Amino acid sequence: MEEKEILMQNPNSQAPQNVLDSQVVLSVDYFGFDGQIHSGQIVVNKIVAEDVRSFFKLALHIKFPIEKVIPIGDQKYKWDDDVSCADNNSSGFNYRLVAGTNRLSKHSTGMAFDINPVQNLYVRFDENLKEIFKAPVDGVYDQTILGTLTSDHPLVVLMKSLGWDWGGDWTAESGRIDYQHFEKKG
Ligand SMILES: [Zn+2]
Repeated sequence: MEEKEILMQNPNSQAPQNVLDSQVVLSVDYFGFDGQIHSGQIVVNKIVAEDVRSFFKLALHIKFPIEKVIPIGDQKYKWDDDVSCADNNSSGFNYRLVAGTNRLSKHSTGMAFDINPVQNLYVRFDENLKEIFKAPVDGVYDQTILGTLTSDHPLVVLMKSLGWDWGGDWTAESGRIDYQHFEKKG
């Protein structure tokens, strides 16, 4: 079977060439919710490739289910994070702003990745700690649901030991909690 070409450049949000040159497409095997092993691809910065490989290796080993792993530049998503998240897709590089802000996300340099966005939702809060935005809109964070990350989960513990922050540790006071999100410190 011919390998699908991975698009790196988003025509509507163009990344500088040096950013594109620093990305690598990782092929990863993962354990699906159907109990089968699947192959996917995730685009991340070369600097963190080994860390991300370690994540997927452990996830497979402990049979942590992952829904799908498709680069967000795929025709299916066309760089639209909302569409990718709604499809419960796990992904890395995306030259884009932090949702609801005008700051570049760590996904823009491939130094962040998201896992199972449906189980591991993204929530924003206003200064009164009131929830103002949630994706998925009807999402519920429930630690008992398979595929959900928690602060003491082996995968979260692993990534922290490798120098990553987990967005599930963020607080309403900081404006957002992002259970799906890992980003390399620094
Ligand atoms: Zn993220």
